[in-house]
Amino acid sequence: MSADDVLVHCQDAARTFGQGPAAVVAVHGATCQVRAGDRIAITGPSGSGKSTLLHLMAALEKPTAGRVTWPGLTQGPVAGQVGVVFQGPSLIPALDVAENAALPLVLAGVPEDGARRRALDALALVDAADLADKLPEELSGGQAQRVAIARVLALAPRLVLADEPTGQLDRATGQHIIDVLLATADAIGAALVVTSHDPTVAQRLDEQWAMHEGRLHSTPDPFERTAAAPQGGTS
Ligand code: ADP
Ligand code: MG
Repeated sequence: MSADDVLVHCQDAARTFGQGPAAVVAVHGATCQVRAGDRIAITGPSGSGKSTLLHLMAALEKPTAGRVTWPGLTQGPVAGQVGVVFQGPSLIPALDVAENAALPLVLAGVPEDGARRRALDALALVDAADLADKLPEELSGGQAQRVAIARVLALAPRLVLADEPTGQLDRATGQHIIDVLLATADAIGAALVVTSHDPTVAQRLDEQWAMHEGRLHSTPDPFERTAAAPQGGTS
């Protein structure tokens, strides 16, 4: 496995919010990497640092200590290379579904016709082509989440980071969303990282990382992975 296959590498990456006595260490030095083809769940209770770790991997947050690098992403962690499915509703209410799915492409400079075509292809991948003309307020929770996934897929990123994508959904719909994420990550050849506090969701991924009070703990069998696999306080 070459360095090019390492899409993101966290080396003792930490993130603290606030200062002095009010400081909260959301993530203590986390060391981990995501490689091409990986299917990883990050589990842990609310407040354990899952979202913050995902944001570090997406370059949405800067580490306050340690380093996050993207050796296999030639252009770095830009939108076309790393796609984030955010926690909670994230569609723009005034835009219809096709416009929502096309927006990142338009913002990336893709002409509107081409952006719409790619958005419709992405909607078809998540079985939402028939929703193209609807407004977000007309969608169920599961439909809205599929559109949010399509919006990420339209950019064909190499790394998809999904933050509690099933958090607002009933169990059956949540399992369907995981099916969609796994199938579409396969279809576009992307690595997939999903955070979830639901073990039945986490078990659907190949590998489970656990977070507890800001610390990332290794997989049950750390020797299955290379030296730079997650190392938490247990090793
Ligand atoms: P999780 O996603 O597992 O629920 P988070 O990463 O959202 O955990 O949060 C981890 C800790 O960091 C929590 O104590 C949370 O309150 C704190 N935190 C997260 N984001 C911020 C922020 N922007 N400002 C201050 N504290 C934050
Ligand atoms: Mg979270």
